[in-house]
Amino acid sequence: MRIFDPHIHMTSRTTDDYERMAAAGVQALVEPAFWLGQPRTSVGSFTDYFDSLVGWEPYRASQFGIRHYATIALNPKEANDPRCREVLDVLPRYLEKDGVVAVGEVGYDSMTPAEDEVFAAQLALAVEHELPALVHTPHRDKARGTARTLAVVRESGLEPGRVAVDHLNEVTVAAVAESGCWMGFSIYPETKMTAERMVHILREYGLERMLVNSAADWGRSDPLLTRRTGEAMLAAGFSDDDVDRVLWRNPVEFYGQSKKLDFSTVDRAETHEGNSIRRGGE
Ligand SMILES: [Zn+2]
Repeated sequence: MRIFDPHIHMTSRTTDDYERMAAAGVQALVEPAFWLGQPRTSVGSFTDYFDSLVGWEPYRASQFGIRHYATIALNPKEANDPRCREVLDVLPRYLEKDGVVAVGEVGYDSMTPAEDEVFAAQLALAVEHELPALVHTPHRDKARGTARTLAVVRESGLEPGRVAVDHLNEVTVAAVAESGCWMGFSIYPETKMTAERMVHILREYGLERMLVNSAADWGRSDPLLTRRTGEAMLAAGFSDDDVDRVLWRNPVEFYGQSKKLDFSTVDRAETHEGNSIRRGGE
């Protein structure tokens, strides 16, 4: 089973996770820029973080033969802090970088006017830089948050096929399916969505424009739940080809719209033993 995790925050994960993911079949991933928990107070904290998403993390992933891509944005939560607004000015130079395959994650946290403004501004950047967009939906008031998200996407002029609306569930999937946007599902150990519920949704809505991710981060999460979903699909009667479509070809198709995916040169850990991260990172 080959797996492309289209949404995972490796910054928050250990090297053991990379190793387990590689063993489970993860060959590529996308790490969206997000909220780190501790509020950032200046633009420099963001640029150091963005640099690690296009520098250090791809290197760490390459030790395990995993191709690492990133999406870059000012996240919805910190969009509310005026000290972070300058981040919008540095985004264009990151969006031009090779490993940056979308604008994201953007969208709503508490649906404030500041979030409206930053969300719309970043969708405009996606249009301008000819990149797809990865859109986070709020954890509270999900149905209303998703409806408002789709309205903002429509106004942005960004083609729905270039937008993934993420963290969906049984309540929000129908509106997104109808919109023509891609549908993202984060499989979590307890909340949001389980592998079994995901299988039901795939039965009902089909495989087209479906993205399954672990969204693993610094909270309770599990980077192997993509694999578990593939196994649950097989157990429910889906074919190997169906699993490959959902866990590999769909994310390749979505992020491939950036024209920046390249699977020709994956460095393997074996070729870098002298410099291996397995010894720890000083
Ligand atoms: Zn995320």
